[in-house]
Amino acid sequence: MQASTAKSAVIAGLAFTLLSSCAPKYVYKFDPNVFPQPVDTRSRPIQYQEKRQYISSLGIVFDNQFDGARLNQWQEDDSTSFSIGIEPENTPINHSPWYSFRIISPIDTGIFVRLHYPEGFRHRYVPKLRYNRGRWVAIDSSQYHLNEDTTAAFLHLHLRAGDTLWVSAQELLTTNHIRAWLDSLKGHPWVQSVEVIGHSTLGRPLWFVNIGTPDDTHKDVIVVIARQHPPEVPGHMAMMAFVEALLDTTRRNANFFKHHQVWLYPLMNPDGVDLGHWRHNAGGIDLNRDWAYFRQPETRQVAQHVIHRAKKHKANIILGLDFHSTQYDVYYTFPDSVDRKLRYFDRYWIEGIAETLPPHPWVREAYDLNAPISKAWFLLQFHAESITFEIGDETPRDLVKMKGKAAAREMIKLLIMRCGKRK
Ligand SMILES: [Zn+2]
Repeated sequence: MQASTAKSAVIAGLAFTLLSSCAPKYVYKFDPNVFPQPVDTRSRPIQYQEKRQYISSLGIVFDNQFDGARLNQWQEDDSTSFSIGIEPENTPINHSPWYSFRIISPIDTGIFVRLHYPEGFRHRYVPKLRYNRGRWVAIDSSQYHLNEDTTAAFLHLHLRAGDTLWVSAQELLTTNHIRAWLDSLKGHPWVQSVEVIGHSTLGRPLWFVNIGTPDDTHKDVIVVIARQHPPEVPGHMAMMAFVEALLDTTRRNANFFKHHQVWLYPLMNPDGVDLGHWRHNAGGIDLNRDWAYFRQPETRQVAQHVIHRAKKHKANIILGLDFHSTQYDVYYTFPDSVDRKLRYFDRYWIEGIAETLPPHPWVREAYDLNAPISKAWFLLQFHAESITFEIGDETPRDLVKMKGKAAAREMIKLLIMRCGKRK
């Protein structure tokens, strides 16, 4: 379909299908829901890594003594070759082996590092490097190769005397980084509050940000959550860009916030992030399977907060967005046949985002209720449209930011059109 035809089809379709769904519906229950694939989310033990320094015969120091680090075993094979073993927090676990460590050398030298994993796991993330406080960059392909069955990665690293080299599966974006980012949002006219609404298993803050106008009574609300899964940094970056675009003080955005509010939970799994986990929280559980029984404090407190706030403010939750990362850019949606608020929003929104960006590969995968994930909960609890927004692990970071911003702008365009005639 040509772009102009597609656009007019979008406008006509939306005006017809979405205007009727502006009226709030207040049906809130806090019942566990039944899913075709139930998951036992009772806590299970995790293995903590030993936090320490390893010093080579030439005085090269490796360490994991920072938030987000993961380095479980270290061995000097010869004076410039090292093996580093990476292990998960517990098993079974998703295939997302996170690693992160730093190296300080007293001399200029090149070294070889072999990353290896327990049996059954393969290397996944292209290493990101950062010297001192410089920019993160993906390792040059000439410095990096995998063995034939991809169970190990070989890195050739250049060390400079006195410099710190950070080596990480993805850029570090930990609790402290998010705290600083939230501090930077405070004082914006549309940021009504940045609050700690609860604590993780190990006592880290669970934040909530109320974005919109001071009075959010009777508004249509978009709930945004992010970082249930620690290694999924590109999705987290997209969420940050999304929020920053919401806060552009344009007339259109001001118009949007007359009828809409955005409730943001920017860091769902702070323990997992800071402990350098592959997937789980400190209870050893995949939080994005706990949206039926809420046995983990992170999911339970966020869900309760959304529900209580929605009741108190007579808010109409119309859309849930959950930011993640996987091997490629993908939107997980519901099929058109699933009845819900904003039905067909996903199609128009996703096409709108694609039209504003340079051509890049992405897919939309629609599937019905299966596991107890956040997407299912938004639908069952609020009858809301609900989309899991996944960014590819290695999607170029400038595109990730553009995409996050485009996602906010296209959402605003569509929702304003829907409620343009509201008083
Ligand atoms: Zn995920």
